[in-house]
Amino acid sequence: LSDRLSGVFDRLTKQGALSEDDVKTALREVRIALLEADVSLPVARDLIKAVQEKASGQSVTKSVTPGQQVVKIVHDELVHVLQGDGDPGALKIDNPPAPILMVGLQGSGKTTTTAKLAKRLKDREGKKVLMASLDVNRPAAMEQLQILGAQIGVDTLPIVKGEDPVQIAKRAKTAAAMGGYDVYILDTAGRLHIDAELIAQAAAVRDVAQPRETLLVVDGLTGQDAVNVATEFDDKIGVTGVVLTRMDGDGRGGAALSMRAVTGKPIRFVGLGEKLDAIEEFHAERVAGRILGMGDIVSLVEKAQQTIEADQAERMMKRFQKGRFNMNDMRMQLDQMLKMGGMEGMMGMMPGMKKAAKQVEESGMDDSVLKRQIALINSMTKTERANPQLLQASRKKRIAAGSGLEVRELNQLIKMHRQMADMMKKMGKGGMLKQAMKGMF
Ligand code: GDP
Ligand code: MG
Repeated sequence: LSDRLSGVFDRLTKQGALSEDDVKTALREVRIALLEADVSLPVARDLIKAVQEKASGQSVTKSVTPGQQVVKIVHDELVHVLQGDGDPGALKIDNPPAPILMVGLQGSGKTTTTAKLAKRLKDREGKKVLMASLDVNRPAAMEQLQILGAQIGVDTLPIVKGEDPVQIAKRAKTAAAMGGYDVYILDTAGRLHIDAELIAQAAAVRDVAQPRETLLVVDGLTGQDAVNVATEFDDKIGVTGVVLTRMDGDGRGGAALSMRAVTGKPIRFVGLGEKLDAIEEFHAERVAGRILGMGDIVSLVEKAQQTIEADQAERMMKRFQKGRFNMNDMRMQLDQMLKMGGMEGMMGMMPGMKKAAKQVEESGMDDSVLKRQIALINSMTKTERANPQLLQASRKKRIAAGSGLEVRELNQLIKMHRQMADMMKKMGKGGMLKQAMKGMF
């Protein structure tokens, strides 16, 4: 998909004002991107319409292509729709003991999220938290919460067999008041699908507990179905916010957008793994980038604009086109990479580079490598930097010793330089370099 969007960039490299055709072409692809990310059709349609109105006739900023600019407008609109008012992660927990009710389908992550939130409230706000499992359906569900509680040092309501969820909720309420708790979290049972009994049970618990927050936990991988679930729960029980789990997986987050657009309920937290601290406040920008499947290309463009001066880029480009790319250029590139958040930061932002970023991480090639490479270049003489072909064995030894590094690392640097120089030369010949650099800066 990011290939498709890059394709749009390529076709729209002309400068000037955004023409209606530019916008239409780009939006056709964006629409497919949205649908592929599981955004519902009416929501996608509304969004495209809003973008069309904003984009038409806008003048193109000098440093980005029209395609990029349209995508930026789409991105901003996505953020706008996804963004709730205020601080998403701030839970209403004044007037202790404040009840929080967790609802959702079976396996969506309610119990895990209950423990995650409890830990967060305890660690960050010093709150005294009580957790209670109301799940009388699944065997060992109550024990599951108890075990998690022990792991994070948060109390759980003692288990009494034979009670129904309403009775447990009442007992939790009393225990929370008596025990001087700031918050008590009620973890309810789920079903595989919404049914009348599940809803009736949750509603009965709600009436007893009168929760300050009712958080709907939704599996971020479930796609379209999540919207129906959210609508149903909100209609019948009334939710104050959504927690999207499994956002560490491959899900594109389109459901988040649809859910937000259809129910109007803010997404408060995002679950990012099975560990009990793998939760964070919802960041609209991140999910917007994910939906468009382009990493954070928007912020890459913005960052590049901030950090590289246009004329410097232009000068560099001219040199590269002539096939000149020496160690001074290389150092400038490395500096640039460091400034843009290092290898990982940069690769994570480039479309299709997520995998490469992972490889970089695994190979241990990180910022410290960039810094060591810069140190090696700094140990070269002026002549050597301008003429890397001079770097023979004795010089290599001197440079390595001078920077306190090994010849092996210098060899890697030289190899990388040669590959980059070759690539620049090839691209320069086909005029591709110009396009690639325009795309970047
Ligand atoms: P419940 O039935 O709604 O209470 O769901 P559970 O809390 O028992 O979670 C079901 C499974 O999903 C467990 O194996 C959890 O570890 C896992 N899980 C929950 N949240 C996340 C998440 O954000 N990311 C990942 N990868 N797994 C999660
Ligand atoms: Mg559970």
